[in-house]
Amino acid sequence: MELIRLENVQKIYRRGELEIPVLQNVSIKIERGELIALVGVSGSGKSTLMNILGCLDRPTAGQYWLEGQEISAIAAEQRAVVRNHKIGFVFQNFNLLPRASALQNVMMPLNYTAAHLSDKACHDRAEKMLQLVGLGERMDHQPSQLSGGQQQRVAIARALINHPPVLFADEPTGNLDSRTAEDVLRMFQKLNKEEGITIIIVTHDENVARHTNRIIRIKDGMILEEGAPLSPCPAGAFEVPSTGSHEQPPELTGWKTINGIYRTLRLALHALRRNIMRSLLTCLGIIIGIAAVIAMMEIGRGSSSSIEQTIASLGANVIQMDPTDSMVGGVSSGGGGRVTLTPADADAIRAECSAVKWVAPSVDCRGQIIFGNHNWNPDRILGTTPDFLTIRRWTLADGEGFTMDDVRGTATVCVVGQTIVRQMFGTASPIGKEIRVKNVGMKVVGILARKGANMMGRDQDDIVIAPWTTVKFRITGVRQSAGAGGGTTAASSVNTLNQIYPNQLIQLFPQPSVMQLADLPQMTRFTDLDDIWISAATPQDIPAAIRQVSALIRERHHLQPGAPDDFRIRDLTEISQALASTSRVMTNLLLVVALISLVVGGVGIMNIMLVSVTERTREIGLRMAVGARAQNILQQFLVEAIVLCLAGGVVGIILGRAASLAITVLLHWPTIASLPAIVAAVAVSATVGMVFGYYPAWKASRLDPIEALRYE
Ligand code: ADP
Ligand code: MG
Repeated sequence: MELIRLENVQKIYRRGELEIPVLQNVSIKIERGELIALVGVSGSGKSTLMNILGCLDRPTAGQYWLEGQEISAIAAEQRAVVRNHKIGFVFQNFNLLPRASALQNVMMPLNYTAAHLSDKACHDRAEKMLQLVGLGERMDHQPSQLSGGQQQRVAIARALINHPPVLFADEPTGNLDSRTAEDVLRMFQKLNKEEGITIIIVTHDENVARHTNRIIRIKDGMILEEGAPLSPCPAGAFEVPSTGSHEQPPELTGWKTINGIYRTLRLALHALRRNIMRSLLTCLGIIIGIAAVIAMMEIGRGSSSSIEQTIASLGANVIQMDPTDSMVGGVSSGGGGRVTLTPADADAIRAECSAVKWVAPSVDCRGQIIFGNHNWNPDRILGTTPDFLTIRRWTLADGEGFTMDDVRGTATVCVVGQTIVRQMFGTASPIGKEIRVKNVGMKVVGILARKGANMMGRDQDDIVIAPWTTVKFRITGVRQSAGAGGGTTAASSVNTLNQIYPNQLIQLFPQPSVMQLADLPQMTRFTDLDDIWISAATPQDIPAAIRQVSALIRERHHLQPGAPDDFRIRDLTEISQALASTSRVMTNLLLVVALISLVVGGVGIMNIMLVSVTERTREIGLRMAVGARAQNILQQFLVEAIVLCLAGGVVGIILGRAASLAITVLLHWPTIASLPAIVAAVAVSATVGMVFGYYPAWKASRLDPIEALRYE
């Protein structure tokens, strides 16, 4: 049965203008099961012929049939498939992968075919091949731990792993001493005889040729003499029918792809592990870049959140709402002419505005406070609810705040600011003491933490805070009724100049006596408030909160569209905008730094990958010879670059985290871990690997297998 037929094959190499004819009109027929020596002196064109026979090269002219298939003109991709399925190569210099075990070397060609085979099946097959060549005990040895003859036998096992019908050996004994050469040749004879494999041995050595059944002599690119073919051996147990190797069992392509990716990944990891120090140095750029980005991101986030907190403590997410002059028929009715903001408004805001987090109504009052023989005129006496302290993020330095029950019960309790403590009490603790606020005894239950001056330069610590009901109905109310009744004197109103805005509302109702008011404070439903304090969850929610609140209050106050508001809303939008733009600038700056460092890292990767491609040219040639397609090689190097970058990215993330933790511990800077930054770092490092690894991988995939195999 005919296996190989060459007809008038020519090969002409071109060197610029010069044409070098290397093969001229070569016609050969080879039957299945032959053992042939292709003999000629060096330079006679044996290797060239073998490269054509082995589908590594194409003839310039002529035709070549292998198992009845015309393959002199098929594309490189298909030649790779033919090599993988039908041809085994054995080289003079063995061409084993240096840092892989014998078993891994033998299994290597399966990477490019047997995606349908499980790892176990591949393993078993390779083991069987090694036993066939008599190396059953040396499977875990690396090439450097094997003798030349053993290495060549590993190479033979590798050539046989895909059960090819034909095996080409180019000077297989050239690097072996005569005794070992004899062993290897016997091996070929045995494989030919017992397994029925067609073997073509290229040699210049007559002694080698003598071990074959037929000798073809070649000289200056021409066939001199074609010995008579001896009767071919009967096909042995080993021989797989030529169609057998093409028959792929039906498989799920998805699983095949996953298996293929997994194998490529394993290959990449293996290649990187082989050179761990270099891999580490290669991705140092990426490691440093990613670590810097992560650390800076975390520090940036930490500091921006602490800036945010600082600004929030100034009131960046606080809205203050107060009533304005209401206009009736174009005439201002004067401040406080109508009840504009009421506790019911505050409750409605709390209930209905989704962007609002906290609401506290407040009333103001001025007046003198007295303790023992000290007196002081605080900047502010504020009546409110406990939520006010939450809104202003004001903590207590000592004692505790008043409660909603105190508010409901108009309890005579208060908390005082640090300035009051300093002015009135000196070093003594004011907790539990009773101060008189405009003649009403108020028990001090807590001391506010220091807040300092606000942005207007007003001392915020010069303050007394009490339940708003108490301020409204006991302190202010008393003064009002006293003024209206005219019965009491300065005893109940020490500093009337502070009350220059008479509250007309109260006067609409019958005035109770001073004692009645003091003992039974009356809660009126329509009480006017001086302010409503509102806080949103974040400064970003402020605009929404303002929109919702003003719409709600306009509706509640039955204001016609177009009518001016009867309230005013104040916030610190400018400050929160300044904050936002600062952190935007910071983020952009970080991004630029990150990009620069990653580009530098990527160039480093590309550089080393190019070196690695050059260094592994022969490995690439070998892989192509056993059937790797350009696409496989591209994939292998690309995956290597990506794995390298990803590993660098992961190390970078760990280092960056560690650095930011160290900074927190050592310098007490706030840092906040950022999951998006970590995810981005992983994505970016993979992308860098892909982008900068592509060119070297592409270069590798474009190598010519023959030249790559010859590369020194
Ligand atoms: P050998 O019989 O020793 O294996 P080869 O087939 O390697 O001989 O080479 C045969 C001839 O072809 C030699 O003279 C060599 O110089 C020439 N040759 C081989 N490869 C090339 C090439 N790529 N470009 C030009 N000439 C080549
Ligand atoms: Mg040669």
